[in-house]
Amino acid sequence: MSQYDLNGLVTNTEPKASRMIDQLKAQGVTHPELLELMANLPRHEFVESAFSHLAYSATPLPIGRNQTISQPLTVARMTEWLLTYARLGRVLEVGTGSGYQTRILAHFFNKVHTVERQEWLHELAKKRLLSMGVNNVEYLFGDGQAGWPHKVEMDAVIITAMASKIPLALTSCLKEQGILIMPIDHPSPQIGCWRKEGDRWKCLGTESAHFVPLLEGIENV
Ligand code: SAH
Repeated sequence: MSQYDLNGLVTNTEPKASRMIDQLKAQGVTHPELLELMANLPRHEFVESAFSHLAYSATPLPIGRNQTISQPLTVARMTEWLLTYARLGRVLEVGTGSGYQTRILAHFFNKVHTVERQEWLHELAKKRLLSMGVNNVEYLFGDGQAGWPHKVEMDAVIITAMASKIPLALTSCLKEQGILIMPIDHPSPQIGCWRKEGDRWKCLGTESAHFVPLLEGIENV
C-alpha cells in the first residue's frame, strides 16, 4: 500500500521496501538521501504486475517486451557513483526501460535526457513519470547509440544495457571530467564507472551485474 504526496513520492508502508533498504546498507550503500528515496519509491509499480510481489527482492525483474529492471543494488551502486563523482547538472541515460533509474536520476540531476529504442516502453515510462509529477526529464524514442540529437554536453552518461563496444557518440557528448557508467562483460559481467580525462578513462569502480544487450535500431510494435 502506498500513498502519493505532492511530489509524486510515496510514503511507502511496504515492509518489503524497508527490508530492501536494510540489505542495501549491509551491501555498503551509504548515501542517506538515496536510501530514503529508494525506500519511498513504489518499485512495484515499475515491474510487470505478475512480479510486483517480488519488486523489492534482490533480483532483476521483467518490465515488459523481454526487458528487465536491474536489481536494487545495481541501481543503488550506479547512482552512488554518480553522486560521488559527477557534477549533478545534465545526464544522458541510454535505456529508459521502466523509468525507475530515470526517476532516481531526476531526483538528483537538474536535467535528465533518456533514450529508449522500444516505443511501448518509452511511452509507458514517460506516462508513469509524468503521473508522478516528474518534470525535469526529456524522453526520446530512438537508438541511444546515436547519442542525444541536439548538441548538448553531458556531465554524465549512464548506459543500462550491455554493449560490446562503447558508441563514439556517447563518449563524445561527455564533458571533460565527465562520468561514464556502463556495463562490460570482460572478464565477467559487471558495471563500471569511469572519468573522462582527455583521451584516457580513469576507472573509479566496478561491481558484478547482469544486463540485457544494447541493440541497434528501434522497435515500434
Ligand atoms: N534503466 C532501466 C533498465 C532497462 S533495461 C530501468 O530502470 O528499468 C535496458 C533498456 O535498454 C531496455 O528497455 C532496452 O529496450 C533498452 N535499450 C537497448 N538498446 C538500446 C539502444 N540502442 N537505445 C536505447 N535503448 C536501448
